[in-house]
Amino acid sequence: MKLIVQNLYKKFKDIVAIKDVSLEVEEREYVVIIGPSGCGKSTLLKLIKGIILQDSGQIFVDGREVSALPPEDRDIGFVFQNILLFPHMNAYENISYSPIVKNFNPSLRKKFIEELILFGKLEEWKNLYPNQISSRGIQQKISLIRALATGSKLLLLDEPLSSLDARVRISIREEVRNIVKQLGITAVHVTHDQNEAIAIADKIVVMRGGSIIEVGSPEQLYNRPKNIFTAFFLGKGNFIEGKIVKSDDNVTYAKAGNIILESNSKFNVGEKVIIFFSPENVLLEKGDENNLKGEVVEKRFLGRQIEYGIRVENNIIYSRIMRLDDPKYNLGNKIELHIEKDSIIFYKYPQEGLEKAFKLE
Ligand code: ADP
Ligand code: MG
Repeated sequence: MKLIVQNLYKKFKDIVAIKDVSLEVEEREYVVIIGPSGCGKSTLLKLIKGIILQDSGQIFVDGREVSALPPEDRDIGFVFQNILLFPHMNAYENISYSPIVKNFNPSLRKKFIEELILFGKLEEWKNLYPNQISSRGIQQKISLIRALATGSKLLLLDEPLSSLDARVRISIREEVRNIVKQLGITAVHVTHDQNEAIAIADKIVVMRGGSIIEVGSPEQLYNRPKNIFTAFFLGKGNFIEGKIVKSDDNVTYAKAGNIILESNSKFNVGEKVIIFFSPENVLLEKGDENNLKGEVVEKRFLGRQIEYGIRVENNIIYSRIMRLDDPKYNLGNKIELHIEKDSIIFYKYPQEGLEKAFKLE
């Protein structure tokens, strides 16, 4: 099912919670909306579902305008952050609830529910009551399957994994995506977890202060974000203040202290910029361009990766490398590093200053 949201506005008293939001979600696409707390993610989902009504703007599901319909007539499934299973019903009964309410043909209903339980790998839990299921991951999977049992081909998920512990969250997020993909469903999933968004989204939507500021694939938004806030929000990037000192046809040079870095970003000489690059793109060896020398001043073990903080002049540059490739530097080591110019982006220095540009609320 295709979802189109056009010029949506929603105010709560004097707070503008949603400000001119337009969004298209293609059939079978898995879209993840990400943004800091309070930016309007839940409000947007509630508007799409019809739990609250917009002040203006339209919502279309498969070409049909649903903007003014009550939630139950919109044919949209919803999974909440807090797990809301009926305590007096076992898992099977929870999942069957809306097909019964909707008067589905009983034999078809049974087949459909059995299929969904298989899809969700929930056979061993189906006769248990919520208070007999200790795993919150399984409970949340039951609420997901229950939302799918409505037969809706559009599913909205509001931080469905945020109450789960880290390890369960990672395995369940893959499962949720797989189930949605296998059933050919269109999903809009809200999270404030950058890794979750990057891992499961076909398309990421970044929101801030009630507006959508950028939309793109995880690769685009992580490696080549157009908006400096996206760069800040999606990863622990390197941000250095600089000034453009030279601009050729293909290469632009920015100076930060005594370092000069080159990029393909286009700017004019004299402009003040922020130089951005991801820690994954800081390579700890000499290269063809952007060679620097520094001293290791931080070292952090991140599981599969190692993060080094390297002091270069007055800046600390972060580098993340796979542990297998780890040259095993220690604090105090003097090292060489480089960043390919393709992976450096210059942003116009934000008028409001860097602190405000990165402000989370
Ligand atoms: P998010 O889900 O991104 O954390 P929300 O959509 O819940 O953000 O909230 C967006 C803004 O709208 C916040 O400033 C929040 O305080 C406000 N808000 C949300 N719901 C209501 C409400 N029912 N009444 C008043 N203000 C609300
Ligand atoms: Mg929310």
